[in-house]
Amino acid sequence: LCLLRSPPFPPARRCVICMLEFAYGDPVRFLPCLHVYHVGCIDDWLMRSFTCPSCMEPVDAALLSSYETN
Ligand SMILES: [Zn+2]
Ligand SMILES: [Zn+2]
Repeated sequence: LCLLRSPPFPPARRCVICMLEFAYGDPVRFLPCLHVYHVGCIDDWLMRSFTCPSCMEPVDAALLSSYETN
């Protein structure tokens, strides 16, 4: 058992916008569809399109939240 491992942990290893793997401490943002991107990458993307770049689900800006990986 490993119950002390603290979520959230990115379900994906790589940000599909910049194609870089997530590094510990990177600021990341989870979308409501649970896809995850770097904060800087997805914020720039959402200025142009309010859809998730992975699944094209519409993104409600009110539901956005960000976390630090650690
Ligand atoms: Zn990125
Ligand atoms: Zn998505």
